[in-house]
Amino acid sequence: WAGQEDTMSRARQQMVKEIEQDVTVTSGSIGRGHLSREIMRIMGEVPRHEFVPGNKQDVAYVNAPLPIGYGQTISQPYIVALMTDLLAVSKEARVLEVGAGSGYQAAVLSHLVKEVHSIEIIPQLAKECRQRLARLGYTNITVHEGDGYYGLEQEAPFDAIIVTAAASTIPPPLIAQLKKGGRLVIPVGTPFAVQHLMLVEKDDIGQITMRQVLPVQFVPLTGTRE
Ligand code: SAM
Repeated sequence: WAGQEDTMSRARQQMVKEIEQDVTVTSGSIGRGHLSREIMRIMGEVPRHEFVPGNKQDVAYVNAPLPIGYGQTISQPYIVALMTDLLAVSKEARVLEVGAGSGYQAAVLSHLVKEVHSIEIIPQLAKECRQRLARLGYTNITVHEGDGYYGLEQEAPFDAIIVTAAASTIPPPLIAQLKKGGRLVIPVGTPFAVQHLMLVEKDDIGQITMRQVLPVQFVPLTGTRE
């Protein structure tokens, strides 16, 4: 009902303010300590409370990760904003996400790009995510069930790839499925320890450069290869 939507909207604006207090919001800057105005506007619109379990809705706008069942989490809003920013996507971009989870990250991204493909390895989460995104009216996100270590060959190559679970090393299929000039953002490191958020760039001749952006803590990438 309208009253609840107002409360949620106020809480969402408060969350945006809190994130903005810790960073410099600019018109297009990239990297730790900076977030673009466009992304903060989207963070102020996407209804995160619709992506968390019913009993967590009252804390949906705390700037923290939350459990979504099956031992998985919806990421911290600040990290969602930062990872989105690091991808530096254009309106025409086609993006791959590994680790659909609740679908929140995909929803945020979908406001910025043409098409999002998101892979989820837990069948029940994939199904719930697909239903949730359809109910909320997202039409440019496709949720695939499968092991995202291998990427999504049939839809490759991608302008950007985002991995929202921690890998011990960067999966080679993901690098192969990244377009020249594209970016991959991925947490790399030991499961259940602190990992490094890495920004991988493929230049116009296909050469790869990597930068460590920030220490992070993600649930592990699972599947046959990890
Ligand atoms: N992006 C999600 C969101 O916005 O809610 C949060 C993702 S949660 C931190 C990580 C997700 O990655 C979990 O849902 C987990 O099941 C999924 N996952 C783990 N290993 C995977 C793999 N090999 N392929 C696809 N998904 C995987």
